[in-house]
Formats: sequence, C-alpha cells, structure tokens
Amino acid sequence: MAPSSTSTSTSPPSVVVVLILLLSAVPARLASIPVSDGLEQLGGGEGLHREILRDETVLRLKELGKISDGEGFLERTFLSPASFRATDVIISWMKDAGLATWVDQMGNIHGRFEPSNSTEKALLIGSHMDTVIDAGMYDGALGIICAISALKVLRVTGKLQRLTRPVEHSVLVSLQSVSWLREPLSYCSQVIAFSDEEGVRFQTTFLGSAAVAGILPESILQVSDKSGTTVQEALRLNSFEATAAALGQVKYSPESVGSYVEVHLEQGPVLEALRYPLGVVKGIAGQTRLKVIVDGSQGHAGTVPMKLRRDPMVAAAELVVTLEGLCKDPSRFLTYDEECGCFTEESLAGLVCTVGELLTWPSASNVIPGQVNFTVDIRAMDDLVRETIVASFSRIVMQRCDHRLVDCAVEHKHSAAATPCDPELTAQLKRATRSAVSAMAAPGGHAAVAGESTPVLMSGAGHDAMAMARLTRVGMLFVRCRGGVSHSPEEHVAEDDVWAAGLALLRFVDQHAVAEL
Ligand SMILES: [Zn+2]
Repeated sequence: MAPSSTSTSTSPPSVVVVLILLLSAVPARLASIPVSDGLEQLGGGEGLHREILRDETVLRLKELGKISDGEGFLERTFLSPASFRATDVIISWMKDAGLATWVDQMGNIHGRFEPSNSTEKALLIGSHMDTVIDAGMYDGALGIICAISALKVLRVTGKLQRLTRPVEHSVLVSLQSVSWLREPLSYCSQVIAFSDEEGVRFQTTFLGSAAVAGILPESILQVSDKSGTTVQEALRLNSFEATAAALGQVKYSPESVGSYVEVHLEQGPVLEALRYPLGVVKGIAGQTRLKVIVDGSQGHAGTVPMKLRRDPMVAAAELVVTLEGLCKDPSRFLTYDEECGCFTEESLAGLVCTVGELLTWPSASNVIPGQVNFTVDIRAMDDLVRETIVASFSRIVMQRCDHRLVDCAVEHKHSAAATPCDPELTAQLKRATRSAVSAMAAPGGHAAVAGESTPVLMSGAGHDAMAMARLTRVGMLFVRCRGGVSHSPEEHVAEDDVWAAGLALLRFVDQHAVAEL
C-alpha cells in the first residue's frame, strides 16, 4: 500500500478545511476536538487544555495502538501494511492541527507550520511510528501524538502564528560592536513521525531519523530482511524512488533547523520511584557491545575429575559475576584520580552492564562444555568511564582465564559515543516541565506530584535524538511509565501523565523563542 501523500502542501489548511476533514475523514469515535470550540475554555480553563492534551491524545494513542500487522498483538515495522495505515491516520491528525504534510522518500511523515514571514530555523519535534513485536502502544507514538496535540492547542488558541523570536543585529561602530533587536521573525514548528527507529525488520536502527539527519549510508539500500527483500526493494514496492539521490533529498540542511526535541516514555523505573510524572534527559548513554569466547576441554560429566577439568562454563560464570561487580561498584575496581577528576560520582552514575545472551556447546546435561560464549553490553553517559570499564573487564577476562587454564577472546562488536543533550534546551524543558506540573497540581489538576524539582535523567536506551544530534542540538523529555515496563503490551502511561507531557511540551514550544534570548 502506498502512502497517501507524497507532496508538500504550500500552506496550512484553513479552519474550514480542517472542519470538513473532521467531519468526513476521521472516524466518529476519533472525532477530534472541533477547532471552532478551540479557545481557552476548550482546555478546561487555566490554560490546561485537558480535552486536547489528555482526552484526545489518549484516544489517539489507543487508536494508533490498534493499527497492527499482528493479530491480537501490536507489531508495526518499517514499510509494513500497518505502517501505511498508521501513516494515513497520523497525516489526518497533523492536518487537523493545521500542519502542511508530506511523506519523504524514507517513509517519514512531516507536518509543518510555516508562518508566511518565516526566515528562522525550524523547531523539530518528533519520535518514531514503528514498534517492536508485541509492543506497547506508547513507545514512539506518545512523542508523535503529544507533539501534534501541543501544536494543535497553539493553533486553536491563535499562538502558533505568533511564535516569534526577536533577531539581534550588530554593527561595528568605531571598533565597538553595537547590538539591537529588530522586528521579530516567526519560526517554523514541525512534527516528524520517523518511519523506523526500532530496526526490527532490517536489524538496523534509526533508518528514518538517520536519513533526515543525512547520516544514512547509501549501502543501506542493499541490506536485506529475513525474507531476502532489500531496503531498496521494499521501498520500490511501496512506490518510493529508493535511489541514493532520493535518500539525499530526505536530508535536512543544518542551516534550516534550530533544534530537535523528543518526548518519550522513560522505559525505566526511575520517575515512578521519584513519584514525578516527567523528567528531562541529560544525555543518551554511549554503548559498547562485546562478545566473549571461552574455550575449554569438552568432556564426560561423569568421568573427568574436578581437578583436571578446563571448564569454560565455570570460567564464564565467574566473568559474568565479575562484570556485575565492576559496574555495580566501579570505585572498588577503578582508580579515582581526584586531580584529573576522571571518575566523579556523577560520571559513574548510570553505568550499566548486562550479559543478555550466553551460548554453550554442545549444550547437553552430561557434557562438560567445549566452548561458552556470551555477550556484554556496557552503557554509560561518560565515554571515558565506559572505555575504562571495557579495558578493565578485558584485562580481567585474560587474568581469570589464565588462572582457570581456559582460552579466552574478547571481540568488540559495536561502539557508540554518548549523546549529550543541549544544556539550554534541557533548561528550557525543565522550566516548562516545572510550570506544567505546578499548574496541574493546582486544585482540579494533577494529583500525584511531589514537591521536588524536575528530575534529570540519563537515557540508557537509544532514541531518534541520537541520530538527530548529528544534524542539530537536541533535547528530550521523559514520561513516567508503570513499573518501568516497555517493549511489552504491559507498557502503560497514566492519562494524567500523558496530559503533563503534552502541557510541558506546549509550554516549551510557547516559550522556546523568548527563552533563547
Ligand atoms: Zn522508542
């Protein structure tokens, strides 16, 4: 099925057009909040906009969560039939928010509000529309729908056109620079629903956002899925051009973009433990993946005496436990140099190490294994910490293996540097979050909010913001999820937390221009 739109509208639909769309294209159960009712009173008063930011957003999350390639579970992968049904629905919501829409040559959906006098760089807000297999309905979708809802509120309240940023000008007068502010210029606000972040189909993540950021190599077109279909063939089957030139056109120029912001559920338990609905993200952790291969002597479980064994399973078990200790209490293993300040408590925070896969050969209950290999995933916000842990663990592997008379090898499979979020965007998101949560804590608003300041978190998971950071500065807002559970149908975000996220994003966009001065 081909995407419903592949061309850019030159101007946002009028209110009349949006109303017609509401009455004709949108299913009755999805009937959007009518624009004609959309001023302050629509939001339940006091600028909280509950009907759009909570009620309609939750309704849309549930609707998108039903668009699946799987029977009885949510699965929506890159260029699948369900992904195009989702594309049509997301486009209808973007149009309802007054955005001009188009689908680019990687299947990303764009919804843009461009004021007539705009010459400023665009503010991009996005997340991904694809899912894992047997997914929850909030991962990715929450960020897209919250963004559409926030821009919809700004439009119906008449603020979207007025998002302006005074421009500073300087001249040199007798070797002295003189600055002044002139007539404000409007700037573009844009939502992007990225076509692929999870990488389920082609085992390669961020296809959508990497294309927009211009970091997707041409060779990606030849990568195959399990059935042997290449990215190029899958794109062509769905009426995309699928050429290197077409991919190049997806890329945004850095000069045209000012910032990228993403709302995402936390996918971890920290905000729930802190009893706070939202958190700002300091950065996305860097990651190293290793494969450790341990070779021993295969033998009979009943006949080889314990003292004569070269058992790779026991060596591997010891290494797994050692890795846990290294990352749980790194100060016991790493030298802390106060002079260089290499490993402050802050830099060590968020260090996590995981052995997620362990294979043994021949894997029989009555055989001492001949070989055991296991994966190691090490993540940290501080790249030096991560690299030091990798080096320390690799050294320990060799020592322990020598001691146990087994042969070991450590293979480096993947390494990615941490992505810090922009401090100014993070500060703006923090202020917007605090403002939103305080407003909701007032009578009639959000009940469960502690009086603490907005938590600052590190993201252990990768996000589209990682790819977008290659194009522009990035900021992220995390939303509390029940039990920290994600990538599961049990994934859940409370309706009031969805509301808080939308309100914080709304206040961020509303104040973004002013705050930049
Ligand atoms: Zn996600």
